[in-house]
Amino acid sequence: MSLSTSRQQFLAYEPNGDPEVQYGRKGGVFISTCICISFVIFAVLAAVLVGVIVYFITFFKVSKKPPDFWNEMEPFGQTDTPSPDLRLPPHIVPSFYRLKLKADLEKSSFTGEVYITIRASKPVKEIVLHSKNLSINSNAKLTEQIYENETIHTRTKREVQNMTENYEDTTEVFENVTYTESTDFDNVTTEFPDMTTEFSNITTELPVIVTEIPQSMDTQVTHSNVRNIEIISISEGSGDRLILSLASALTPGVDYILELSFQGQILNSLTGFYKSSYVNNNSEVRQLGVTQFEPTSARAAFPCFDEPAFKAQFEISIAHPQNIVALSNMKVATHESIPDQPDWQWTHFERSVRMSTYLVAYILSDFVNIETTYMSKDNVTKTIKVWARPELISKAKYALSITPKLLAYYEDVFGLPYALDKLDLIAIPDFSSDAMENWGLITFRETTLLFDEKESVPRDKQNVAIDIAHELAHQWFGNLVTMRWWTDLWLNEGFATYIEYVGVDKIEPEWNMFDSFSHDKMELLRTDALKNTSPVSRQVLGAAEISQKFDEISYTKGANLIRMLNHTISDQLFYKGLAIYLNKWKYQNAEENDLWEAMSEATREDPALKELSVVKFMNSWTRQAGYPVVNVNRNYDTGYVTFQQKLFTSAKYPYPSMADQLWRVPISYATMDAPGNWSSRPQLWLDQRTASASLPVNESQALYVNVNAIGYYRVNYDQRNWQLLRSALHSRSAPPLTTAQLLDDAFNLAKAGQLRYTHALGLTTCVVDGEDAKTVWDTLLNNMAFLNHNLRTTPGYVYFQDYMRLILSKQLAKMNYGLVRPKDDNEAFLVESLVMWECMVEAPRCLNWARAEFEKWAGQDDLTENPIPSYLRAVVYNTVIKFGGRREFEFFWRLFHNATDPVVKSLAIANLPSTREEALVAFLLEKSLSEIPKQYAVSAWSVDPPVGTRVAQQLLLQQFPRVHARFTAMDAFSLPSAIAGAFGVMTTVDELDTFKSFALEHKEKLMPMSQTLQKIVDSANIRIEWNKKYAREVNQWFQDYVTEHAPGSSFSRTEQPLTQNITINISESTTSTPLNETTTTKSTTR
Ligand SMILES: [Zn+2]
Repeated sequence: MSLSTSRQQFLAYEPNGDPEVQYGRKGGVFISTCICISFVIFAVLAAVLVGVIVYFITFFKVSKKPPDFWNEMEPFGQTDTPSPDLRLPPHIVPSFYRLKLKADLEKSSFTGEVYITIRASKPVKEIVLHSKNLSINSNAKLTEQIYENETIHTRTKREVQNMTENYEDTTEVFENVTYTESTDFDNVTTEFPDMTTEFSNITTELPVIVTEIPQSMDTQVTHSNVRNIEIISISEGSGDRLILSLASALTPGVDYILELSFQGQILNSLTGFYKSSYVNNNSEVRQLGVTQFEPTSARAAFPCFDEPAFKAQFEISIAHPQNIVALSNMKVATHESIPDQPDWQWTHFERSVRMSTYLVAYILSDFVNIETTYMSKDNVTKTIKVWARPELISKAKYALSITPKLLAYYEDVFGLPYALDKLDLIAIPDFSSDAMENWGLITFRETTLLFDEKESVPRDKQNVAIDIAHELAHQWFGNLVTMRWWTDLWLNEGFATYIEYVGVDKIEPEWNMFDSFSHDKMELLRTDALKNTSPVSRQVLGAAEISQKFDEISYTKGANLIRMLNHTISDQLFYKGLAIYLNKWKYQNAEENDLWEAMSEATREDPALKELSVVKFMNSWTRQAGYPVVNVNRNYDTGYVTFQQKLFTSAKYPYPSMADQLWRVPISYATMDAPGNWSSRPQLWLDQRTASASLPVNESQALYVNVNAIGYYRVNYDQRNWQLLRSALHSRSAPPLTTAQLLDDAFNLAKAGQLRYTHALGLTTCVVDGEDAKTVWDTLLNNMAFLNHNLRTTPGYVYFQDYMRLILSKQLAKMNYGLVRPKDDNEAFLVESLVMWECMVEAPRCLNWARAEFEKWAGQDDLTENPIPSYLRAVVYNTVIKFGGRREFEFFWRLFHNATDPVVKSLAIANLPSTREEALVAFLLEKSLSEIPKQYAVSAWSVDPPVGTRVAQQLLLQQFPRVHARFTAMDAFSLPSAIAGAFGVMTTVDELDTFKSFALEHKEKLMPMSQTLQKIVDSANIRIEWNKKYAREVNQWFQDYVTEHAPGSSFSRTEQPLTQNITINISESTTSTPLNETTTTKSTTR
């Protein structure tokens, strides 16, 4: 699954960055007894504390201070005991599902029958599987399959049909039969008159004669007779469990078929089998039925063993109106009319490969497609189709053009063909995440699959490429080989994330994808330094924790650790190891050590890597939270260099359990004066606390450690070496990525009190004469965004703004402020960021230009012809909404409502929350709880401080049950995003106290997103501490610099007021709050 890019703006802890959010989990799930007890204890303690506080407030008028239920010694909500209903019993295993569904979108309901072939490994009298929000009929049946083998000679399709009819006769012998293949067949025929050819598909023992009937061959066929097992009761247990009690125990090693019929509703829920809709060009509302099962919603569509390791084959049939198209993982086998419902038909799909339940998918729509074919590695011509609503199909060309290229490339590097015969990619109008890798039927948000040169920006094109590359990588990592349990979700997501960059870099090399990758890593290093970060591989103890694992740690950190391994052992051995792993584990489930074993097998023959234990190396990174800083101290006389590793954390008091961690750190190094010869392969290993070595570096050379930022750690140097590095930066001899890496390390070391801020700030002047590299600017601006937020209420903020204008000005002028079309996509990305910052720091040119661009457009009769260059639209929208009033807000609100193009809609809703009018924020948030379509609703919560966040906080405090009900009805990710939008950038103790009280009051409902809450608190603590410690020093530096270098533009000369040229004057509100940092950087990369 790809997480939604729109969500990335709701970073709980660092809203200026865009690594993927810790979204949190779905509310109302199961809580272990242990946690329940803790709740009781918490409640009692809290009650006592609240009493004490009330007493104090009332009688002593002291400031309100909430009870601190954030234990400083361990993460909130931590438990060591797995929830007892978390897992299904392992001794019953399904092998095959025959699923028949009748879906009525008009009535918003479906009915279904499922025949699950199961086997027990021990004699049990209970079957436990999953079912959620389904009505299970009481007519459930369980039959034991009794097989007799027979060899059939030279049959044709027609003969097979006759054969099934013969079976029908034989079953009559059994008196007690309540369900047999044949009686099922009888039932089926009333609905499917031509099901005869399908009959043989029903048992797993007859696969040979399923869909492709051999012209002439001998076949081993199994007669299947049955014995009924009485089901005494069917009950619902906690944890979405359906428990069937049996009169007699199951015999181990024997197949049983469990038959269940059920009904469910097709709601607009974004999970399970849900309804999506759109308005077509004739203003008619069209409906679709869509599935989204990952991680645990297959159980909401049909009863099943809904854990990733219960892989089985699926054979699906769907009855639906004839005027819509049904799609599923596999190809359509046949269509079949339904006699008593002339406008309806059955679509029967081929039997699937062995797969996990969360990858099953089916979709009903009136969509159209464009298609192509490609020849796969195993010489089979496979069809690729991209589907969209008819109005948008012209935008599917880019997706269709890159998919075969990516597939061919992946087949090459993974050494295995794409496993299925077809691939559909479909753009869904209402979709929660960015995309989902359902095997053979990949679902996307419209904006992540469709690309239109006219409306979209190059960044949108890049996002389409990235999301497709990610989901295609999953067809191997995740679909073919699946994690055994959600603990190793990172194997799926980390790999797909890494490979998405490899894939896009291959097909669109001019984007320099690995610069973006490194940038994402730097973002992540910031959030992974929070107190409550967690390991990549971590146990899942409660059902609600599964959704919390879809976070930046599983995706981006997973990807970075895999990349570090790749560079350590070389491309050649890395891909060899992958091929070994995929081949060994295909159609099965694996754990991380299975991957390390495969990598060890690949590296064993390389003498240089003989000493390397891949397992120990990687476990030290995947099983420990956080990462180290490597302190490098040079002895300039002897040439000896000492390396010391230590947990890097921005927390004042890290958890004691983390403080002593040691990693196996691969050290690569170089001197700054010879960038041509750099290698990122490790030359040293640091696996103890300290190590020293004599390095061939002379005292005048700058030593550079962690070449190309491949290692997942930061580096701090002694002062003299920092000076040498700084000279290299200012002489422009360092490659852009290295400049970015040093800037990022310096800023974050300063933030953690390990380097002087003046030093970090001094490095930023390296761009003052212009800098073309996007990667340098991205890193610099992201670090400045933290300062922008924190300094905004300080007296020196104006100097910060002046400084930013100063360092932006040369490069902006050089790029003509984006007024001339950028020469390539990279330049478009850069100019967008720079102009956004120019407006954010209220440069008069930018504000005037944005206003003029808007008026030019708003004055047109036909608004569909937008004259603003697409790559600058976000800047213009954001600026005029922020500095405007109701008129501008209304303009974009109407645009959001009236537009049918999802790109136009998304851009409008993403910028509406930047308004600084209290009433408009309140209006927008209210609409997010009612009429804003679900997939856009949470975007409304991307509000700006201080006005927007204040209103959002009030709404949460006063109407939490409504907000909770609205967002938890969608998915597990929206509510944490909304809460992070309101509370994610707190800089005062009062705000933090309010937040803690809020969390305490609603702790039960908020428990499923405990990690997000913890990170919000961590982030607030850092901001509050930072302001006390560093704001004055940092402000002084900015003031000194601008006074010296640009005295005319500074408040140091009061006769030249800062905003003298501003004619924008849109609204009454003239406070100088900058644009939301989020908006500026959310587009940097996904
Ligand atoms: Zn994914």
